[in-house]
This record gives sequence, structure tokens and C-alpha cells, in this order.
Amino acid sequence: MEVDNIQSHIENDIQDHQIDTLTNLPNRTSGCLLAESILLKNNVPKVHVIVLEISRFGQISDSVGNTLADKILSKVAKRLSSVFCNALCLYRTHGDHFCLVFNDDVNLLEEVSRLTDFAQRPFAISGNVIVLSIRMGIASAQVKDQAFLDTMHAAEAALHYANNNGLKVSVFEPFMLDKAKKSHQVANDLRCSLTTNSHELYNAINSDEFYLVYQPIFSKKQNKVTGFEALLRWNHPLRGAVTPNEFIHVAEEIGVMDVLGAWVLRKACLDIVNLHKLSEIDDVMVNINVSPLQFLDPELLMSSIEEAITESGISPTLIRIEITESSEFMHSMASTLQKIRALGCQIAIDDFGTGYSSIVKLTTLPLNMLKVDRSFVFQLDSQDPIKSQQALMIARGVYGLADALGLSVITEGVETKEQLAIVTNLGADLIQGFYFAKPMLESEMFNYLNQPVN
Ligand code: C2E
Ligand code: CA
Ligand code: CA
Repeated sequence: MEVDNIQSHIENDIQDHQIDTLTNLPNRTSGCLLAESILLKNNVPKVHVIVLEISRFGQISDSVGNTLADKILSKVAKRLSSVFCNALCLYRTHGDHFCLVFNDDVNLLEEVSRLTDFAQRPFAISGNVIVLSIRMGIASAQVKDQAFLDTMHAAEAALHYANNNGLKVSVFEPFMLDKAKKSHQVANDLRCSLTTNSHELYNAINSDEFYLVYQPIFSKKQNKVTGFEALLRWNHPLRGAVTPNEFIHVAEEIGVMDVLGAWVLRKACLDIVNLHKLSEIDDVMVNINVSPLQFLDPELLMSSIEEAITESGISPTLIRIEITESSEFMHSMASTLQKIRALGCQIAIDDFGTGYSSIVKLTTLPLNMLKVDRSFVFQLDSQDPIKSQQALMIARGVYGLADALGLSVITEGVETKEQLAIVTNLGADLIQGFYFAKPMLESEMFNYLNQPVN
């Protein structure tokens, strides 16, 4: 069906429904109704639904401003309408999300590749050249077997899955609905936990639901614990323990990570100063994870760090901020990282080797250390000689790189004596992992620090 036909359908079928004024496309409600009516009128047997999202649009919008961001959306809509005139229907579901509906007679792979290509062609907007990338969720169904809305939900669940797994495209499978639903429930519970019983978010976080555990970082050369990494835990009254891998990305999605992260900074600094007082050892460091999303509001992040320092009285030189490699964010993080360094804090790249940062990019950031991801350490004592050999080469490369860049290294995830022997042979000094200790409660740190080293 050509675009003219679609337009006439819009006029005939959804006169009374809303058209999105920014893009001139149907909105979610009218788009769904329109799609249903087109499928019915044309006796379409099988439908393909592609829901697409512009990657990191929030960040683009923050950096170019709302007016330009609106122009981008309007141009995307225009380009989608002209390039995909073979679609049965096109509409904007919300924000930077669009939905394309195709008859079964199209070649789906071809459409996906056209969509990838479409986004990569630069957009010239008000003198700026903007290159976008998109993510897609795809679902297909026999029209007689499934309501259109369910197929669209399935495509959205696939998009959600793509988002959480760093994929550009994901095709719906039933387990994704469970995942999306679970994520949705976690988001609801998280919102509740952060707001009920208190008008002040800080107090809500300070309830027993959220707490920090600490994992020791051991120096082989000094034969003692030199620091602890603070790790967030959520103990939900009904769900029980929710792991950070389940809720941190949700907190990021629903925009509460900056507040949660600010609490982590304050609490971790207070706990470490408390440990200093108890143990009379005043040089134990604290590693604190900071989400890349916290860098989107540099002022809030800086004031959180400064307040944590002032409130606790900790020396800033004892704080190490851990950030994960992330190509999209690193460039814009540089100036904030400089400010954090200027306070006296250290900066570590977490999960090193799993992200996308180029060596050139690393040299432009004010870093102190790399944390070797545990996936490399895991393979070091593998029974498979090829795997262990490869892991050894990678580990050697990472230590060599850190050395060349003048950075120190923390080796994460050391679980066995064999792994410890291998990494120490390679020159590793700072080690973190279950071999030494699992993350522990604040109240356990003092005893751990005082126990004899074996
Ligand atoms: P991460 O920063 O890489 O933290 C290390 C994770 O590895 C922790 O998992 C720790 O328990 C686990 N681990 C440490 N040693 C070993 C080992 O020897 N073997 C194995 N199998 N695992 C080990 P955890 O606490 O579940 O945290 C998961 C991730 O959640 C963290 O990974 C971090 O990315 C994120 N996270 C935790 N707390 C915070 C926080 O306060 N803020 C932010 N932004 N992210 C956090
Ligand atoms: Ca970390
Ligand atoms: Ca890590």
C-alpha cells in the first residue's frame, strides 16, 4: 500500500483520533487503530511489526537542546514516511519510538537493513550534521491468531530486550515478554520504594531496603587490604534480595539513578570514615561505582561528591570513582572527570576489556587505573588449554597496556589459588575476588580488616 493510500486511511479512519503535531504521524492510539483497520480491510494474513528507537536520544536531546531535538524527530518521521512508503502503516508510539507495520509480502531482512541504512545517513539540521543509530524490536504474527496490539507489545518487548542486551535488532521470542514484564514490575517497585513513607527521597533510600556491601581489595605486594568496593543492594519487602544487575539498569531507565547514586556516594564515604575511626587505619580506600547516566547531570554529580566529602570528612584521595567503558558517554564525561580528579579523587575504568573504548580515547581521559574484567580471569585456569592460553595472552596484553599508559590495575574476580598464582606471576598487585572475600556488610569490615592474613 502506497503512502497516499495510508494518508487517505488516516483521514477516513481516524479523523477523530489524534495526529501527533510534531511529526504529523498518527500517535500511539490512533496508529494502533489505523493498523487494525488496514489489516482488516485488506485481509492481510500475516503482519510484521517493527518498533524502532533512536539510540541515546535523551543524551542527544540534552546536548543539542529541545528545539533541535524536536526537529530531528520531525525529520526522522519525514524520512521514514518517504523511504518506507511500502509500509502498511507508520506512527510514533511515544518520544523517539516509531512503529512500522508491514504486510507479509515484504522481505523483512531487507527492510531491517534499509532501516539501519536510513538512520546512518546524516541528517542536516539547522547547520548541524547529525548521524543517528537506531535499535529495533521485531514481531510477526498471523492476523487471525493475534490482536494487533499484542503483536505491537511483542515488538516492544523485543526492543526492550535489544536495549538491555546491547543489540541493534532483536526478534521477539516469548521469554522476552516475561523479561519486559519483570523489568516493568521492578520499575514500579523501585518507584514505590523510593517514594512511599517519605516525602524526602534521601530518607526513603536511607530505609533498610537499600544498603551497601563492601568487597575487599587486597594488595599482594603489601600483603594487606588497601580498599573496599561499595556495592549496592536492594532488599525489597516482598521480592527479597534484588541483585544490582536486575535493578540498576531499571533505575537508569526510570531516571532515579542520579538520586540513588548520590546516596551511594554519601553512605560509602560515611561508612569508610567510620571504619577508619574504629580500626585506626586511616588509609583504606573506597571504590564507588558511578553510572554513566549520572554524568548526564554533571552539576548534581559534582555536588553529590563534594557533599559526600564534606559530610564524612574523608580525604578525597581515598575515593576511587569507578566508571564502565561506554563509547557513547566517555567523550562527554571527560570534563567532569577532570573536575573529579581536581578534587583529589581517583578514577578507575571498570570491567575493562568488555566495552568499546579505544586506546586513543583512554589516553585522553584523566584515569588512574583499569579494573580487568573478571571474564578474562575466569578462563585463566580453564581445563581447555586453548582457552587458558588465550586468556593468558589477553591478561598479559591488558597489564602491558596499563603499564604503557602509566595506569595501575585491579584484577577482579579472582576465585581460585591457581588464578591468583597466574595473575601475580603476570605482575598483578591489587586483587579483588571471592578467593579473598565476597562482599560483606559494613559491620563485618572491621573484623575482616583485623584478621590475620593467610
Ligand atoms: P562490578 O562493579 O563489576 O562489581 C563487581 C561484581 O562482581 C559484584 O557483583 C561482585 O559481587 C562480583 N564479584 C566480585 N568478585 C567476584 C568473584 O570472584 N567471582 C564472581 N563470580 N563474582 C565476583 P554485584 O555486587 O552483583 O554487582 C554487579 C554490578 O552492579 C557491579 O559490577 C556494578 O556494575 C553494579 N553496581 C553495584 N553497585 C552499584 C552502585 O552503587 N552504582 C552503580 N552505578 N552500579 C552498581
Ligand atoms: Ca565496579
Ligand atoms: Ca567490574
